[in-house]
Amino acid sequence: MNISEKALLLSGWIDEAQCITCVCHARPDGDAAGSCTAMTGYLRKCRFKDAVSVYPDAAPDSLGFVTSLSPHITADTDLSRAKARIGSTDLLICLDFNTLSRAEGLEEDLRSAHCRKVLIDHHQSPVLSDFDLCFSNTDVSSACELLYSVLMLMPDVNADASRLPSESAEALMTGMTTDTNNFANSVFPGTFRMASDLLACGVDRNALIDKLYFCERPNRLAAQGEMLSTHMKILPCGAAVTVLHKDFYERHALMDGETEGFVNLPLAVKDVRLSILVKEEESGKMRVSLRSKAGVSARRLAAECFHGGGHEQASGGKILIPEDIKSPGEADAYVADVAARFMQDNYTED
Ligand code: 5GP
Ligand code: MN
Repeated sequence: MNISEKALLLSGWIDEAQCITCVCHARPDGDAAGSCTAMTGYLRKCRFKDAVSVYPDAAPDSLGFVTSLSPHITADTDLSRAKARIGSTDLLICLDFNTLSRAEGLEEDLRSAHCRKVLIDHHQSPVLSDFDLCFSNTDVSSACELLYSVLMLMPDVNADASRLPSESAEALMTGMTTDTNNFANSVFPGTFRMASDLLACGVDRNALIDKLYFCERPNRLAAQGEMLSTHMKILPCGAAVTVLHKDFYERHALMDGETEGFVNLPLAVKDVRLSILVKEEESGKMRVSLRSKAGVSARRLAAECFHGGGHEQASGGKILIPEDIKSPGEADAYVADVAARFMQDNYTED
């Protein structure tokens, strides 16, 4: 089936459903929150459905302006409502993740839901058996860009972006902007076409950029300063390794999501081709964020060494205690060693 045929099938399934639920991955980012908000907004305003987004956990406060645009339930603070919603929904639309396990605490509820499940996603290797219908394309900037293409194929929209509700247009622009790091990476011809169409429909991009990039608290900048001057280590192999422990978050009074984007900073250095950022979470878990320049596969490193995955140039995973290291204090040495070995393999392959 081509994308137009799939879109028509989805449109028929939407017609047949009354209660529709949009879901994204745990720790929603701009693309996850944007795609859920946009789809929910479209289903409510254009198709008159009882549509709601369910987030496995809360998006950072900085994305509150997007999530507040359409109704949503946050599972970690409202678990019984989230479970009841998933259990009683007629159609599930999964956005910005490629396997149900990325919904973490909601995985089993999603798996056991008896309704039709649709995937709209831009990660490699989706688990097709988890879904009844898959829109999957890695040659797009974001789930929002792919969702935009799908919405343009809906009979009622008929390739006219001005028929989208304003909240969907703003949410789509948000997710595309954050996943491309404001047009710095993963940009395709269709990305600019979508941005151009949404701009023509009245999305206020200046206001959006202000909300996304110019509303920071000064302590976030102070934290970046300490990270770059004290914690970032640039290795001879071209990897920058940064480990942030709990005391760092406490010292700068950082809130959830305020270290978003920190992993990109070391890539500004000329010979750095890979940035690895390890964050020790409140629970003691160690989450890993990876970013690379072309030619170095962040995705492969995440899959091979950090129990994760993602995109070629942006991926993530975790370090397990006690399987990988005995205590958080060993993370620096462990990651430096993994990075040096990976970069060596990478160069011999080229
Ligand atoms: P971030 O560094 O922003 O947390 O994640 C970057 C990208 O890596 C995400 O968009 C997602 O595609 C991927 N990613 C992050 N964490 C995980 C993980 O635990 N497992 C997998 N498979 N992918 C992840
Ligand atoms: Mn995404």
